[in-house]
Amino acid sequence: MQTPADLVVILGTGGTIAGTAASASDGVGYTAGQLRVQDLLAAVPALSSQRLEAHQLAQLDSKDMDVATWQRLAAEVAAHLARPEVAGIVVTHGTDTVEETAYFLHRVLAPSKPVVLTAAMRPATALAPDGPQNLFDAVQVAAAPGAKGVVLAFAGRVHDAVQVRKVHSYRVDAFESVDGALVARVEEGRLRVVGRWPAGEALGLERVTRPAVQWPRVEIVMNHAGADGAIVRALQAVGVDGLIAAGTGNGTLSRALDAALREAEAAGVRVWRSTRCDAGPVMALPGLLPSAGALSPVKARIEMILSLLGSTSS
Ligand code: ASP
Repeated sequence: MQTPADLVVILGTGGTIAGTAASASDGVGYTAGQLRVQDLLAAVPALSSQRLEAHQLAQLDSKDMDVATWQRLAAEVAAHLARPEVAGIVVTHGTDTVEETAYFLHRVLAPSKPVVLTAAMRPATALAPDGPQNLFDAVQVAAAPGAKGVVLAFAGRVHDAVQVRKVHSYRVDAFESVDGALVARVEEGRLRVVGRWPAGEALGLERVTRPAVQWPRVEIVMNHAGADGAIVRALQAVGVDGLIAAGTGNGTLSRALDAALREAEAAGVRVWRSTRCDAGPVMALPGLLPSAGALSPVKARIEMILSLLGSTSS
């Protein structure tokens, strides 16, 4: 008899969802990444009827997310997805860089089962923590028939890995799908699909196996009033393989920053233009530095790193 694929594997990486504060009314002075993923599950009795397996992969404040943790996470997610009894994966994470981890997993794995990241804006000790509901919702998405790809389940909404951005520093509903439709909503534990599940071609785990110290260095520089390009020359002096320009508007750059970036490009540094705007693409125009399309600066940085990893030998 075939085993039903109804197991949801939960991988804990830390974040505010696992954070604790000395006082229940303290929503900002807490320490992220304190509770284990098993403790998070214990706070959601409604999940007791579901087949779950939990592993603690890391215990980080996601502002400190790093390449080594991404490598372990991608390998672990791939290994669990390959198990026939697994319906999907939930990754508990901090909100600060969850959109980067989501994009990284999307590009490396492009999974045909759901990989659902979730997080919280309030620590587990808050008067009204948002983590338990988000975790409950994430498990429902991971177990839902037809779900696939890397998404973020947060505050009742399911965002795809490419579009999602953290748009608020404090509000409980802190994420938006900035450049298109949501994937779904979760209402009373039921999924209402309103868009499309993320799809794409996986670059594969082999692309990201090189030790972290050998990864290309790609930095983000911003255009702003008075941007004189000195930052670009300083980065070139320390050694940089790529630069993402977070330009103004349609990726526009001050004359001085544009000149410095072109010099860097001529010296062999890869340069793409993105926008510091909260949403929208950068339209490619003849004669201008290459565009990063609709990717935010942080996602363009990951895309460039993955591209450089594919084009340089180890
Ligand atoms: N600094 C925290 C983190 O990203 C913020 C959060 O999770 O909301 O881990």
